[in-house]
Amino acid sequence: MSREGVTPQSEDFSAWYNEVVVRAQLVDRGPVRGTMVIRPYGYRIWELLQGDLDAKIKDAGHENACFPMFIPESYLKREAEHVEGFSPELAVVTHAGGKELEEPLVVRPTSETVIGEYMAKWIDSHRDLPLLLNQWANVVRWEMRPRMFLRTTEFLWQEGHTAHVDEDDAMRETLWALDAYEKVARDLAAMPVVPGEKTPGERFAGAERTYTIEGMMRDGRALQAGTSHYLGTNFAKAFEIDYQDADGDLVLAHTTSWGMSTRMIGGVIMTHGDDKGLVLPPRLAPYQVVIVPLGRKEQAETTAAKAHEVAAELKAAGVRVHVDDKRPQLTPGFKFNDWEMRGVPLRLELGMRDIDNGVVTLARRLPTEEGQGKETIPFGEVAARIPGLLEDFQAFLLRRAEEFRDSHTRAVDSWDDFAAQVSQGWALALHCGRTACEDDIKAETAATPRCIPAAGEADSGVCVRCGEPSAYGKRVIFGKSY
Ligand SMILES: [Zn+2]
Repeated sequence: MSREGVTPQSEDFSAWYNEVVVRAQLVDRGPVRGTMVIRPYGYRIWELLQGDLDAKIKDAGHENACFPMFIPESYLKREAEHVEGFSPELAVVTHAGGKELEEPLVVRPTSETVIGEYMAKWIDSHRDLPLLLNQWANVVRWEMRPRMFLRTTEFLWQEGHTAHVDEDDAMRETLWALDAYEKVARDLAAMPVVPGEKTPGERFAGAERTYTIEGMMRDGRALQAGTSHYLGTNFAKAFEIDYQDADGDLVLAHTTSWGMSTRMIGGVIMTHGDDKGLVLPPRLAPYQVVIVPLGRKEQAETTAAKAHEVAAELKAAGVRVHVDDKRPQLTPGFKFNDWEMRGVPLRLELGMRDIDNGVVTLARRLPTEEGQGKETIPFGEVAARIPGLLEDFQAFLLRRAEEFRDSHTRAVDSWDDFAAQVSQGWALALHCGRTACEDDIKAETAATPRCIPAAGEADSGVCVRCGEPSAYGKRVIFGKSY
């Protein structure tokens, strides 16, 4: 491990990201191009997010199941748009058991088709609806330009799949999932995401309506952090998901699907990180507090013993805490930098002088309104004060990200302003709604419509690009994205 820091964000944001994910010990590159090994420190972040989201999913009446990862190729072909959208990314198994297969198998890129097949089997009457399923799984989408967490050939996610009696009920479900994602992003990841609907050109392959939460990263780009789709009766038709209604008539069900993935970890890194490395929101931090005992030899034994005492009190108070006493060869300065690189929200330093004074020294990962430099906390107050300080830090990160997003978002009405704005953040612009016009904007600026924000104010006029009358009755967020 070198002592040097990472490439500054301002110099090369992408290099900064690639260095931080490795230096913070979140991931290692997998042996197959585009795959990643999620290391324990990175996986713990996923588990914390997963625990919260899984509880929300279950509280709302969904049940977890697990479907096979191999899907007969013919299933995907049953929904024309779906297969067209996914074809370039599919990994297909043609040989197994030492011979060529009669029918190629697709490694699931998503599971609408295989789950649709079984929904059709399990649903007979309106009493079987709604059917509310979720699965936690890995999926494979072959990536030509991979990036750890953001675009990897294999990634982890949950995918919700539900079937309903009609459009109203299915739309309620679609928006429920969107709201759950917004809460996870805001409350756990301290990401102030914007919920909204995708324009037709950006819809999921096979969906009638696609909703998204979009977060702004510290380079001004957008990250789609979770999506929820109303699939209409498209998959119901393809897989014969129908039911007998109260009058005994056979009716097609309306289905939804929604997913949030390990991409969220990339979002956390790019929403909060800085030139010293990762900055983790306390609710997703594997270690919320690290205690670094100082001194050599006998002094080290004394400070380490006291550090474990403090750690036990913090643990009893529900804090995830780690004592860094296993690396005597490293200097305190090195350890401080290392924990800053790994994004630990609060660090406690404990030297002989602190022990004599009956205190620990607190250092925050970032200066906040509540505290700029180091400060001391008496031993007797540590367990009572730290949980509050963690909450303060969590709230500070959300505020800071909100301020960043708002100061990098602007309503624009001319093409020149639009092009300038999307080079550093988000543009709120009126748009005609034509996919050809979106393509033109993308070709000129690399920006795409991120969403029609749910909370956007009513507005209309002419398209910022082509001058045709605007669509949607409000402004659309445009930005470059991951
Ligand atoms: Zn236009």
